[in-house]
Amino acid sequence: MDFSWTENQNELYAKVLALAKEKLNSSAKEPEMAQNLWHLCGELGILGLCVPKRYGGMGLDALTTTRVIEAYGRGCEDMGFVFATLAHLFACTMPILEYGTELLKEAILPQLCSGEWKGANAITEKEAGSDVFALRTKAVRDGKSYVLTGHKIYVTNAPLADVFVVYASTNPTHGYLGITAFIVEKNTPGVIVGKPFSKMGLDSTFASSVYFKDCHVPEGNKLGNEGQGAQVFQSSMQWERACLFAAYVGMMERQLEQTIGYTRSRRQFGRAISKNQAISHRIADMKLRLESARLLLYRACWLFDQGKNPVLDVSMSKLAISEAAIQSSLDAIQIHGGIGFLTEFGIERGLRDAIPSTIFSGTSEMQRELIARELGL
Ligand SMILES: Cc1cc2nc3c(=O)[nH]c(=O)nc-3n(C[C@H](O)[C@H](O)[C@H](O)COP(=O)(O)OP(=O)(O)OC[C@H]3O[C@@H](n4cnc5c(N)ncnc54)[C@H](O)[C@@H]3O)c2cc1C
Repeated sequence: MDFSWTENQNELYAKVLALAKEKLNSSAKEPEMAQNLWHLCGELGILGLCVPKRYGGMGLDALTTTRVIEAYGRGCEDMGFVFATLAHLFACTMPILEYGTELLKEAILPQLCSGEWKGANAITEKEAGSDVFALRTKAVRDGKSYVLTGHKIYVTNAPLADVFVVYASTNPTHGYLGITAFIVEKNTPGVIVGKPFSKMGLDSTFASSVYFKDCHVPEGNKLGNEGQGAQVFQSSMQWERACLFAAYVGMMERQLEQTIGYTRSRRQFGRAISKNQAISHRIADMKLRLESARLLLYRACWLFDQGKNPVLDVSMSKLAISEAAIQSSLDAIQIHGGIGFLTEFGIERGLRDAIPSTIFSGTSEMQRELIARELGL
């Protein structure tokens, strides 16, 4: 077993870490600023890490993609922006790459990889959250197009998006085998984007409801075949669960460095607080959590690249990273004392950004269900 990275992988990591620190830390909360940052991300290659070069991407495998994303999450403190750009890559760009027609791929992927266009994925509905394939949005064939009607919620990037991957039922009697995925452009008549939701974290992620009212979508915008939508979604979730969470590994590494630095400089009772075992052991636990989660992540991505069934490992990695990120964020706050609680110092932001990670891309409970199923339970 060889745990070393190649020279090329190390160079990419160092480059993305340095540029993310230097250029991606201005707030993406303002739409004009966000646009510039999306373009910068496109120039850095982040928006097309695992997309082949011929479509404007970098053509990296899952493991290298993951390593670069770790650098991105470590360097860029704005996890809302990091999450928005990675949801764009894994839940919109990747399904188009894997299931779109050549025509669609040539027309859309270069725009998504450069940041010129932003993408969203719309599947969740009020009555279809964890039970996602209970969705009720309908797509009815009408000559050479489909007419979409329905209401999606929690759509990351919806207020900014140029293009949506939308899941709808073309055959409600067939349950999840009756679901089909479509590309819908924002200017299509009948697409109505709601107001951005107010959230407790991921501040620079813009998310809202999206309504489809008699929205005509050309049949060429179908991803895969009729009835293949559940497969398209599951494949995009494998990518997202495997690679996106590397950003939280990067975040935990940054948090650990900051926390260690603080405990060395903060003095109480005449000595650095790091000299108290109650503090240093809490830091040891943060390190252990980070490294265990990281190993699960690398193995899941390695399996992915080997073409082996990665479901068990990907779910374990997603679960371990997201729950570690919450626990380590709580530890970081406790170790910083009062300033850990003040928004001015940004320590508490880690916790607010970590909490949704056990909900999106499938909740912790659903990951445990998947793990149990893979164990034959
Ligand atoms: C930050 C963020 C970004 C998101 N981005 C998108 C997006 O871009 N596109 C999109 O379509 N959706 C998106 N979502 C929606 C997300 O996928 C859902 O919130 C998630 O799947 C859970 O669905 P729900 O909120 O309806 O909760 P529910 O499914 O109602 O679950 C509520 C609770 O019950 C538990 N539960 C449910 N069923 C079971 C069971 N069988 N066994 C045990 N426990 C169970 C859940 O784990 C959870 O704790 C996003 C959500 C968040 C928080």
